[in-house]
Amino acid sequence: MIKTRSQIHPLLRRRLGNGETTSFWVDNWSPFGNLQDFLGASTSRFGIPSTATVASLYDQDHWLLPPARSENQLAIQVHLTTVTLIDEQDHYEWEVAGKLVLGTALERFLTWLVMHNRCPTRDRLLQWGLEVDPKCLLCNSSNESRNHLFFDCSFGGIVWRSISDWCQLQFTTTWDALIDQLHAVRNRNLRRLTLLAFQGTIYWIWHERNSRLHNQTFKTTDIFISTIDKQLRNRIQSFRHSNTRASSAMSQLWFLRS
Ligand SMILES: [Zn+2]
Repeated sequence: MIKTRSQIHPLLRRRLGNGETTSFWVDNWSPFGNLQDFLGASTSRFGIPSTATVASLYDQDHWLLPPARSENQLAIQVHLTTVTLIDEQDHYEWEVAGKLVLGTALERFLTWLVMHNRCPTRDRLLQWGLEVDPKCLLCNSSNESRNHLFFDCSFGGIVWRSISDWCQLQFTTTWDALIDQLHAVRNRNLRRLTLLAFQGTIYWIWHERNSRLHNQTFKTTDIFISTIDKQLRNRIQSFRHSNTRASSAMSQLWFLRS
């Protein structure tokens, strides 16, 4: 525990000063800009005073925040659990990874977290000295880690098998093998489609995990897969006007999927 604190504090100071003059609501300290807009503070501040500084929400070794009730609140919490550990080198890699993938800012951010194994999965929370149940929320049998949650898990595995078939990837539960395959897709539109599917799957798996944790709501794998399918169709349609050729090539690839 003491080790964790001494590792966190210097890095926290480097990124945010000591946070004592940084306004939680107004200053641009996160990737999401002004949090009054991002979190819709006109209706509720969730118990966080309008004058709160970032430092006032940090107590020794954890953040004093109410449980997340929306996607955007969750994004802030995910960010806070990692911000202290991000150094300049990684920040650069995030920019590079951001250019590789399409999709919303939150999806790109989550993809970055997963690619760098920075998602606050339970194995990492335990390493940081937090007392949490180690079990995976999706299968409730193995312990939660990035590789388990997104690949080895019986839930994640079923989802990946479908996504791999659709994107002409060889199904694998090995993280490195999957990333190698993603980089090796040569056809430009198939590559775009694969990255969108990859990113959407990461996003929805993390979303499902958090829904189970915070709201006790559960999706079956069938419903889960059809959610990704629907989202991808909408995404492909969304750039029908801006890039007609890519949109129709990707639509074709998607309709011809196995
Ligand atoms: Zn599992």
